[in-house]
Amino acid sequence: MGCVNHPNAPVAATCKSCRASLCGICTKFLDSGEDCDMCAPLAEANALRKSRIRNEESRTVEMAQTTTTRITEEEDRQKARNKDGLYIKGGVGLALLMLFVSIGLYAYPDLRKSDVQLAQEQAVIQLEECRQVFQAIGIRLSEGEIPDSTMSCPGTNIPNIILRQGSKITVSHPNPRQFGLVELYVTSDSHRVVMEGQGQG
Ligand SMILES: [Zn+2]
Ligand SMILES: [Zn+2]
Repeated sequence: MGCVNHPNAPVAATCKSCRASLCGICTKFLDSGEDCDMCAPLAEANALRKSRIRNEESRTVEMAQTTTTRITEEEDRQKARNKDGLYIKGGVGLALLMLFVSIGLYAYPDLRKSDVQLAQEQAVIQLEECRQVFQAIGIRLSEGEIPDSTMSCPGTNIPNIILRQGSKITVSHPNPRQFGLVELYVTSDSHRVVMEGQGQG
């Protein structure tokens, strides 16, 4: 048994498609194997188709991987951007807040209080400080002591007026009018701070 086409020729291969015995001349050596002339075109076409499918598949897989990678990268970039955005937004917000605070402090010192309001509050604070000094003087008087000139109100250089009437000692503020008062004093009798305003008894 020789080649199907050349019976005298020795068999070199068997067609992998139709199993025909083939001599060296009749054998088509394809990447997919050995085929006869009849089967070779179909086998080639099939091999091409398969390789195309394989290529297509691998390309699809590649594309899918690439897409996945791209999506992941894009997500990472997006995350990074969002992070930056947050930082930027946070930074802008803080900067704006600081700007408003600065403008507020510049335009409205001491929380939008006018000079008149500030002066009035200052007077109230000074009066309270004075009242505390006179309270301390009252305690001294109740202990039988005579207050010295160091016990004067803060914010004034003028010493308090100390008046003796027999055993009664009266210590008066030198300028109660700075608080809108007529009298601000304490006596050794009551030891209580008396603040008489305008129009009051
Ligand atoms: Zn064949
Ligand atoms: Zn042959």
